[in-house]
Amino acid sequence: MKNLLEVCCGNLDSVRAAVEGGAPRVELCRALELDGLTPDWEDLREARRLFPQLTIHVLIRPRAGDFCYTPREVEAMSGDIEAALDCGADGIVIGCLTPSGDVDVPAMRVLMEAADGRPVTFHRAFDLCREPFSALEDIIGLGCRRILTSGQAPTVAEGTELIRELRHRAGGRIGLLPGCGVTPENARRILQLTACDEIHASASAAGPDGRKVTSARSVSAIIQAINSTVMYTFTPVKDQAGKFVLSLDNRVSIVEAITAFCLEKGILAGEITGLGAVNLATFRFLDPVTLKYVDKTFEEQMEITNLTGNISQKDGKPYLHLHITASRSDYSCIGGHLLDARINGACELFVTSFPGTFVGRRPDPETGVNLYSF
Ligand code: FE
Repeated sequence: MKNLLEVCCGNLDSVRAAVEGGAPRVELCRALELDGLTPDWEDLREARRLFPQLTIHVLIRPRAGDFCYTPREVEAMSGDIEAALDCGADGIVIGCLTPSGDVDVPAMRVLMEAADGRPVTFHRAFDLCREPFSALEDIIGLGCRRILTSGQAPTVAEGTELIRELRHRAGGRIGLLPGCGVTPENARRILQLTACDEIHASASAAGPDGRKVTSARSVSAIIQAINSTVMYTFTPVKDQAGKFVLSLDNRVSIVEAITAFCLEKGILAGEITGLGAVNLATFRFLDPVTLKYVDKTFEEQMEITNLTGNISQKDGKPYLHLHITASRSDYSCIGGHLLDARINGACELFVTSFPGTFVGRRPDPETGVNLYSF
């Protein structure tokens, strides 16, 4: 499934840039310098007219400052929600708190009714809540669709742990939308750490007039980053050409990730050693009598006590030959030829390439193995 970017747009130019950059959804507001206020209806109507396919969520926030609204303000916001829906909004973004830092459930009920079943996002007022887990339950009870949050931290990069916990406790009853300080560089990592599949960013820079405007290039860079198939990070070993320290991403396939790395670096001969943790692994055993492979899958948490392998080439592509020893929760070990395994925790490898060395493979009828061919 593809990850989704919602772009926070403080004006119509930003909506244009968001669409140009490929964003499927925007949150429309104005006055981003005040953390966003209810947009002008003219901008909303125009955005709707220009981009009929775009999902437009509209922030309803009548003034800067706190999120504690008087009954009169709530009544006005309720009218604003109806107006926004009349102008073509697909969803509403709101948040009301009590002075003690709880969700203002009665005020929210009034606004939820005005939203008339359309998807509602509870915005970053959540980050000021006294007790995030009871707030989470209140917001779920109100019927909101998602919560926009930085995990109660100054930036979402610092709040990933709380978001992950919220998502876990929500158990699919509501979506979590991480936002605040998202860049093309950190977007993917934030989704990984929070286990979310949507992210919120303004992707903006200050224009000549000091007004924040979304950049189409930044939008498309974030979209590319969150949907990239890169499954690892690495660093070259200093002063040792062809040697790399490689960290595979959590939950990826070891074989897929190492193969992708070899393709990126053009490694067609080399060696691999490493360790890590997996929760799914398929081992292969070759029966020398029948020359048949017997595969067995283990679905349990295991430490990779050793992963050893070599890289050669077959049909011009990297060919991995990996053996693994894995320790089980009772401290016993199992091992074998590794067909593939899914990381659950981490996987840290050292890869050495032998550039310019040809190591091919040829099938050997006697052993049933693809043997080295030089
Ligand atoms: Fe083998």
